[in-house]
Amino acid sequence: MHTRMQLVPRRNMDIIVQTETIHPYGMMLTNDYDSFGAASAMVETAEQLTRDEDVAGGTAHYQLLHGAIAALARRAAAPKMLLTSYLLRALTIAGWAPTFDECSKCGIEGPHNWLSVSLGGVVCDDCAPPQTTYAPDDVVALLSALLAGNWPAIEGAQNGEIRQATSFVAQYLQYHLEKNLQSLSVMEQG
Ligand SMILES: [Zn+2]
Repeated sequence: MHTRMQLVPRRNMDIIVQTETIHPYGMMLTNDYDSFGAASAMVETAEQLTRDEDVAGGTAHYQLLHGAIAALARRAAAPKMLLTSYLLRALTIAGWAPTFDECSKCGIEGPHNWLSVSLGGVVCDDCAPPQTTYAPDDVVALLSALLAGNWPAIEGAQNGEIRQATSFVAQYLQYHLEKNLQSLSVMEQG
């Protein structure tokens, strides 16, 4: 739900004195399993990334989350793609922007086809440590489009590319959160 609340601050827990529903997204999301799963993963991620009260970019996180939930509710794109794009942008706001165009280590212009979770995106032939995962051009292009929110480029993606791209993003998120999110298991399905 997108709700407006009036709160009275208390030392331990604020008291809600008035609420007003602005957008009843819940009704639109609960009747579709994939949308509900994606929405759950989004809010769990947002909760983790904004855990500190004075978190930088709190408003940006809120606006991004609201936009993503609204897009899910109106079926703007496949739920898994909306979730993956949301995660990449939420990580960017959190200060962990991945790089898919230039080498994330030395900065040399791409395209590059080595994908590293710990180095934060693609790396060039010279910078790729042994056993770095190979990613075909289409996978790198899909990741770049998901980060940019370039939806026309995302719509034509094939299942194999989607699987590798979503798997990378799930690993990248968990690497930075240093924990597994239960709701993120939706990324492994389909
Ligand atoms: Zn490099």
